[in-house]
Amino acid sequence: MAITGLAVRGPRSLLRQIREALAGGGPAQERLDMVVRIIALSMVAEVCSLYLRRASSDLELFATEGLNPSAVHNTQLKPGEGLVGEIMRMGRPLNLSDAPNHPSFSYRPETGEDPYHAFLGVPLLRGGRTIGVMVVQNRTTRIYSEEEVEDLQIIAMVLAEMVAGGELFGQAEMKDVELAPHKPERLKGTKFADGLAYGVVVLHEAPVIAEQLLSDDAVREEARLKTAVEALQSQLDTMLDGQHGIVGPSFEVLETYRMFAHDRGWNRSLEEAVRSGLTAEAAVERVRSEHRARLGQARDPYLRERLHDLEDLNDRLLRHLSGDVSAARQLPDNAILIARNLGPADLLEYDRTKLRGLLLEEGSSASHAAIVARALEIPCVGRLQGLRDRVSQGDSVIVDAESGEAYLRPRPDVIESVQARMEVRAQLRAEFARLRDTPAFTRDGAKITLLMNAGLAVDLDILHETGAEGIGLFRTEFQFMVAEELPRLEAQTALYEKVLEGAGDLPVTFRTLDLGGDKVLPYLEAEREENPALGWRAVRMGLDRPALLRLQLRALISASRGRELRVMFPLVASVEEFRAARALVDHEVAWALRRGRPAPSSLRVGAMIEAPSLLWHLDALLPMTDFVSVGTNDLMQYLFAADRGNPRVSDRYDFLSPPALRVMKTIADACAESGTPVSVCGEMAGRPLEAFTLMALGFDRLSMPPSGIGPVKRMVLSCDREAARRGVLNLLKGSSGSIRSEIETLARKLYVAV
Ligand code: PEP
Ligand code: MG
Repeated sequence: MAITGLAVRGPRSLLRQIREALAGGGPAQERLDMVVRIIALSMVAEVCSLYLRRASSDLELFATEGLNPSAVHNTQLKPGEGLVGEIMRMGRPLNLSDAPNHPSFSYRPETGEDPYHAFLGVPLLRGGRTIGVMVVQNRTTRIYSEEEVEDLQIIAMVLAEMVAGGELFGQAEMKDVELAPHKPERLKGTKFADGLAYGVVVLHEAPVIAEQLLSDDAVREEARLKTAVEALQSQLDTMLDGQHGIVGPSFEVLETYRMFAHDRGWNRSLEEAVRSGLTAEAAVERVRSEHRARLGQARDPYLRERLHDLEDLNDRLLRHLSGDVSAARQLPDNAILIARNLGPADLLEYDRTKLRGLLLEEGSSASHAAIVARALEIPCVGRLQGLRDRVSQGDSVIVDAESGEAYLRPRPDVIESVQARMEVRAQLRAEFARLRDTPAFTRDGAKITLLMNAGLAVDLDILHETGAEGIGLFRTEFQFMVAEELPRLEAQTALYEKVLEGAGDLPVTFRTLDLGGDKVLPYLEAEREENPALGWRAVRMGLDRPALLRLQLRALISASRGRELRVMFPLVASVEEFRAARALVDHEVAWALRRGRPAPSSLRVGAMIEAPSLLWHLDALLPMTDFVSVGTNDLMQYLFAADRGNPRVSDRYDFLSPPALRVMKTIADACAESGTPVSVCGEMAGRPLEAFTLMALGFDRLSMPPSGIGPVKRMVLSCDREAARRGVLNLLKGSSGSIRSEIETLARKLYVAV
């Protein structure tokens, strides 16, 4: 076998030799030449080559044992080009018995690699970026064993850290090698939550760079690992044992999670990595990258979910190793969070007082992560292609959500100009604050009620600051999303009491649990669905699991003792559903009264209009409701058949286009005719131009993220509603496409501040 040398001497001694070679002084080139020689010898490979990434993103052959020395610094490959480029693109190993026959093989005569068939290449990963590729080759036609792949990955991990760590090579020597991105860059994306921020990068999927990768005492590390794994297992057991009463698929999911923690294979991989000479932390990182490589490419959503579970377990384990078992992540004072994408609950795990901004590689502006960002007033830009690959932890960065851009490692003049703009925004905020107590009347005397969307108790702190006249949408599922387990009756009641108390005399409209879709709970997962947005979610779940909904209603009823309870149901798709949901409320109120329990003084029950089916049944629905609220985020997703969470389709259709606006007009007209109070609580209500249009169509209750209240109020105060109505209806008549720019021109002509 080719790699017996490694097996005999163990990677630990090899890693030490590499470290000594790199630390030995002398020109960088000589040291890297020595490293590839040591690896080739130790792995009994005829070829060992190291490719590093240039600032141009090309990979360059930097050192080789076995290939033609004159190819060094001459052979270059683009990402995706040849086998080496493919490894870089995929970020995972490639193990081939006959490389020249592989379709991606790119023949480079200068290297003289013709006689070599067996090929094993692994990426040099640092902070999730591939900074290079390490390859071993042999003449024979054979597949390298799993242990050999493992060994080379460990070597690559250590090498990546040493080469990129910055201490071993001077800047000049490695000039133009992109070990970490360092040049200023500007990326164009999409604005998800307005604002500007300047701070330092915190990676959400942070690589925990194990400070010391190599241990001197494998026995001690094994013991540390064992203690941490046991602590993790017992923490999970306790957490999951508290989940009495959960049966069916949700229970199975919990069990799967627990099984991972007890999984022998996982434990064995960790132990082996420690025995090979890594510290416990480095072992966790090592096994994590293996999981990522295996599951990260999976298209199957189920497998991707499992990867998420594993990531979570690895994070927990690292926290146990560091002795920090609290769930919250530590942040610097001016953190800008960077992630590929975020689940709705992820953002809530961070200390919002330190989180200044958010940059996402993917996402869409209607996704719940973006909604949470707006609710928390955290400037957010998304859909920044290649972002994760271009930043390192601790880089300075600007979130410019005005223009939908991110400035990575900005130059001082850019920082200065952004700081000046931040100052202007602060002044504008002060102006909005001065409007706080001014009632929102249009110039021609129409009263517009501006309400705030909320979902957490902390949101109540800003309710009075904004001058909103109440909470038009309280998303009760947020409490469930941030909890580790299903909130009990007492916890739910306590939250609702706090919210009502915080609101004082102002009305609060609670929306019952809107789970499912992109809002999944780790502890209460439904069956995997092909089409979650069209699946078992919101009121459907509530009606099928009345125990869950009734518990929530009970909490709402008890918390609203002596005052009005306003409650509405999400994603009602038929009048029957609304009737059934309303019957549950009536039943629970009657139950409370019968037992002399605390009960509200009056009750208002409403439906959210989010499913297009209702548009053709408003005549039956409206008389059954006390009010309705239009959830334009969902209504438009279903109307245009465009997943709000999928960036490829979510922004394809304009809300200011005839189909969307005619639908809104239908609702406004039907509600006016039947005398049903109606509000709009989707995100569009918080954008001045959209709010202007909604007002023109007849809506006079708008519920929005707190940051929208000031700008929308300024718009209302400057607007003549009757003129707006005439103008917008006129534009709606004959147009064929989006009328955004026409509405914008109209607003300008009417001197409306949009
Ligand atoms: C909506 O769909 O417009 C809405 C307000 O609900 P959510 O965004 O929470 O789905
Ligand atoms: Mg909705």
